[in-house]
Amino acid sequence: MAITMSTFSEYKIEKVKVLLLLMMMMLGTISSAQNPQARKKPNIVLILADDMGYGDASVYGHPTINTPNIDQLAHEGQRWTNFYVAASVCTPSRAALLTGRLPIRNGMCSDKRRVFWSSSVRGLPADEITIAESLKDVGYATACIGKWHLGHKDTKYLPTGNGFDYYYGIPYSNDMNKTQKMTKVLYQNPKTSYYNVPLMEGEEIIERPFEQHTATKRFTQQAIKFIEENKRSPFFLFLSHSMPHVPLFASQSFEGKSERGLYGDVIEEIDWSLGQVMQALKAEGLEENTLVIFTSDNGPWKMLDQHGGSAGQFRGSKGETWEGSMRVPAIFRWKGKLKNGIIRDMAATLDVFPTICKITGASFPDDREMDGYDLTPTLFEKNESGRKEMFFYVGRQLFAVRKGNFKLHFKTRGIAGFRKYYNMEHTPPLLFHLGEDPSEQYNVADKYPEKVKELRQLAENHISGIKPYEDQIAPRDGDEIDRY
Ligand code: MG
Repeated sequence: MAITMSTFSEYKIEKVKVLLLLMMMMLGTISSAQNPQARKKPNIVLILADDMGYGDASVYGHPTINTPNIDQLAHEGQRWTNFYVAASVCTPSRAALLTGRLPIRNGMCSDKRRVFWSSSVRGLPADEITIAESLKDVGYATACIGKWHLGHKDTKYLPTGNGFDYYYGIPYSNDMNKTQKMTKVLYQNPKTSYYNVPLMEGEEIIERPFEQHTATKRFTQQAIKFIEENKRSPFFLFLSHSMPHVPLFASQSFEGKSERGLYGDVIEEIDWSLGQVMQALKAEGLEENTLVIFTSDNGPWKMLDQHGGSAGQFRGSKGETWEGSMRVPAIFRWKGKLKNGIIRDMAATLDVFPTICKITGASFPDDREMDGYDLTPTLFEKNESGRKEMFFYVGRQLFAVRKGNFKLHFKTRGIAGFRKYYNMEHTPPLLFHLGEDPSEQYNVADKYPEKVKELRQLAENHISGIKPYEDQIAPRDGDEIDRY
């Protein structure tokens, strides 16, 4: 098109406007913090406890652990009772939470080693999209504070390589990089010096070994600092506690206080931490513009006796596929926005990503298989959850499947001793009615042969529809191996 005199002057005006805008941005007079469009987007605070059981909060029925802040969050929001993780150990569970995909689809699961160790050289594959990456694309400030456990040997695997602007925490579990051979007794009498775990800020190690007594306290301080510093821009805070994963540590203010012993002290400090975060949101006037989600990455680790938590009335421990292994506490709270109450519908951490995308307008990956459901119809209207099925994996193998109230186990796993498990195959498979028998005590396969058939078919269809991705966790030839 030829440029006339009038379009030429319009063109000049537009050019001047763009130049002015660029100059103002360079001078810092306009930032994303002052962009009203960006400011309208809600903040997301995702709090993840490590190995906290379904039954470890008062509001979920614990008789001796006192959790007033978790309870209050539940009373002011939605408390879910059928909420699952995608795996019963840290690495695959966290990968599923942050990518919205079953770990079999991105190699974040293994039959040889269930999680990354301190010696592991790989991490979350680069082409995986995390919640933080999606939110960053729409102007969010993002922080991961606490435990990561999705790879650490290369900076591309760290939180800062996966959409988080800021990282402060430990790259793997608090019981890794041991300085000596650990016994059950040593685990139960923890000392920071037994574990050469680094504390990192960004991509630098700032303390080693990480002083674990103050883990929850310091993660909380950093979380509050991040909220205060980013109150004007939309933010995504992933507060990923390293507790109550063993070895257990509480700060002086909490140690020896709980009737439940050290485990109770640790949970009560996590509860305190939640209270601090909620107070900070209130003080900054952000309560009505912030969705807070509180959950856990897997069920309690019961092989260390009282140092492990409680799955309430559910059977099983971390590492297995019983309800207590993968059903976790889950509370959603957004003042003035959610229909509060107890939600008995099914959901999973896999659903967090699509739900956040729906709420924030962030783009949802559409070039790959995703495994989640948008939970906003239930959160905002108490409409039925889209999730009717759940798949229970150990490593790369499907152990069980749930549809409606029925759950079919092809294999189960049990504890054979300190840090030892055994697998058991069930032919025919075991069927439990989770409505009548949430504790999975009574096999009703003979009573409901049509359900056995239906769930078996569901499992076969699921497996045939999955393209397993190469195992990223198991060490390969030439990889360094941990000494202990
Ligand atoms: Mg865990």
